[in-house]
Amino acid sequence: MTSRKELGRGERVLPGVYRLRLPLPWPGVPHCNAWAVKAGDGFVLFDTGMHQQDSLANLERALAMCNLRLEEVRLVVCTHAHSDHCGQAATIVEKVGCELWMHPSHELMNRMVEDPDAVLARRLEVARQSGVPEEPLRRYAAERGTPESGIVGPIAPDRELVAGVTVATDLGDWVAYETPGHSPSHVCLFQPERRLLISGDHLLGRISLYFEFGYSPDPVGEFLSSLELVEGLDARLCLAGHGRTFTDVHAHIEGNRDLVAKHLDGVLKALDGNQPTAFEVVTLVHGDALSEQNAHWLLSQTLGYLTHLEAIGKVTRIDGETERWAA
Ligand SMILES: [Zn+2]
Ligand SMILES: [Zn+2]
Repeated sequence: MTSRKELGRGERVLPGVYRLRLPLPWPGVPHCNAWAVKAGDGFVLFDTGMHQQDSLANLERALAMCNLRLEEVRLVVCTHAHSDHCGQAATIVEKVGCELWMHPSHELMNRMVEDPDAVLARRLEVARQSGVPEEPLRRYAAERGTPESGIVGPIAPDRELVAGVTVATDLGDWVAYETPGHSPSHVCLFQPERRLLISGDHLLGRISLYFEFGYSPDPVGEFLSSLELVEGLDARLCLAGHGRTFTDVHAHIEGNRDLVAKHLDGVLKALDGNQPTAFEVVTLVHGDALSEQNAHWLLSQTLGYLTHLEAIGKVTRIDGETERWAA
């Protein structure tokens, strides 16, 4: 917790393109970006920031720093269904009466809003099956309670943001590319003449991997395919979901690939001469770094890697009340 209250900030990054830096309550991830791109008498808002106390005021503050007003939003487009990217969407579209475009795989988010207990129950079931001992699990469930979703309410997009959909702006059309992996609903938007990429959380300036496990067959494999697709676009400048813009897009793609390969290698090594549970893999790979705060995150990433290694035929899942893995 910082004592200084973070505020929304806005800056022009290119003529007609504005970065809106919005505060987040998460340790290690202090803000996210929304992007405003001029369109006719208003602008298209790409992503919205999370819903929390003062979040709308922070968005309006960031817009005001760019001489923009919330009333000028003509369309809201969300890169994916995570609270920091679509949390305020419902508020904004209701306030200004514009449309919301988003990928159809966003229902997971609605489930989280409508029935967070069921999502938590499912999480615990996966953890138990992965060999997490009962005691820390009970503690996790009790302390976590019903998590705050960061979403103002269920989302009902007016248009499905699938491959090939275009978003018109003063800088030209932006084309939607489906880029699952980080989240099954993830979409990047590419402006081909200027080679600009709104990359959401698919590509970030500071490489950090996250795969939403449990909602698609092989999130890590999907992420690697999405990297390949985006590499083919040959973007010149990335407008990412967190942090500053960056130009060395190719190097970032390579960096992501290298890190995935390194993690896969670490998981494979843990299986050497062993038939561990996923949780044992987590303790073998991450050892002292494992804490109650990051256990869920590390376990779901590890399950993602194991599932990918299974998909490419390098490991076998041994079914049982507790699942084990063999190389
Ligand atoms: Zn995300
Ligand atoms: Zn994000």
